[in-house]
Amino acid sequence: MPAASGESHQEWVRPRVLLRRMSSQCAAHGNIWKWTLPAWAGRFADGRTYNACPSAGVCRDLCFARAGTYRFPSTLRAHERNLQYVLDEPDAWKEQMIAELAHPRFQKPKGDIFVRIHDSGDWHSERYLRDWLDIMRTAPETVFYCYSKEITLLEEVARPEAPKNFIWRYSYGGLQDELIQPHHLQADVFPDEEAISAAGLPSQSETDLLCALGPTAIGVAANNLPAQKRKQGAQTFRTLQRAANSRAKKRQRRRQGPNLGGPANR
Ligand code: SF4
Repeated sequence: MPAASGESHQEWVRPRVLLRRMSSQCAAHGNIWKWTLPAWAGRFADGRTYNACPSAGVCRDLCFARAGTYRFPSTLRAHERNLQYVLDEPDAWKEQMIAELAHPRFQKPKGDIFVRIHDSGDWHSERYLRDWLDIMRTAPETVFYCYSKEITLLEEVARPEAPKNFIWRYSYGGLQDELIQPHHLQADVFPDEEAISAAGLPSQSETDLLCALGPTAIGVAANNLPAQKRKQGAQTFRTLQRAANSRAKKRQRRRQGPNLGGPANR
């Protein structure tokens, strides 16, 4: 259904499995599953463009999921297929996700199973977020968690009615960083573990579950991707975004010209 007739692209096939076991080192302690979308923007095989991270800021150029194994063609295709499924057949996707979570492998005592939503990607629409909230309500024993840069959407849609088994944490480096409040669960990406210790924060490398179970502020160490690490230097995503915002404001002021204001100058 996603393609207009006559377009040349691979035949659409729904993903057979939606949730995958997390296998990274930081997921060693815990029964953690993940749901992944492609990072930021791209183009589907049928030519349509997408943006799975509408509020990505400086993180776009430093994103771990826009390099390395995430860019292997088969991996990227699988993540794009997930997004395409959500966009083109939201009802079927939702039904399949609910059915998958009802499988006996997810029927464990409360707190034994975790699902990380968005190993990469983010909340790209209100409909998608609302669908996930419905899905979470069908699996109250499972804990769902995510990092996100979509502060407005989560505060307006999820905050008033979030199911108890959903925990989200804002991560710096996005266009809405200035909306993150001191009491919000939050994470910043540091150049390395030493920088996290120097800031007095616990590190996510101990366990990814720190996102859901950790204190208000935690640190995440940048992945070992040489080009990204060079760009980041000694900064954190938060300081880089703040600097980018201040440059953008200066540019805007220059474009607007001097503020001569007042009726006498009209
Ligand atoms: S929001 Fe996350 S996945 Fe998207 S570009 Fe930024 S770091 Fe990457």
